[in-house]
Amino acid sequence: MAFVATKKLMREQTIHLHRNAPAKPAEGQACNGCGICCALETCPPARLRFMQAKGPCPALAWSEHKARYYCGLMSSPRKYLGWLPLFAEAFTSRLISRWIAAGKGCDCNADVQP
Ligand code: SF4
Ligand code: SF4
Repeated sequence: MAFVATKKLMREQTIHLHRNAPAKPAEGQACNGCGICCALETCPPARLRFMQAKGPCPALAWSEHKARYYCGLMSSPRKYLGWLPLFAEAFTSRLISRWIAAGKGCDCNADVQP
């Protein structure tokens, strides 16, 4: 499903999300995995890994079971960082979780229209 999203001080951008993706909550509310932020632009660790600032992030993953998006770089770091030893995966996952402030609430101010 296509949406037009506008972030403050940014141009309009068309993004494509799963038809069952939840609607974006207000900024500051709990993250529900709508995927809009990562479809618009990449976060700092993704910029380092994928060398792109524009979305959609290659690590943005859809969970059919939970009907929400999640961060593949955080949940399966070795999938995107092939050189990472197995023993370092859990630590890296926690590091990325802190870096992207997972669980801290929605920090995306985009205005989204279907
Ligand atoms: S941080 Fe906000 S925009 Fe990003 S996935 Fe969570 S709810 Fe959606
Ligand atoms: S690495 Fe994860 S949090 Fe960062 S932009 Fe990609 S999917 Fe989103």
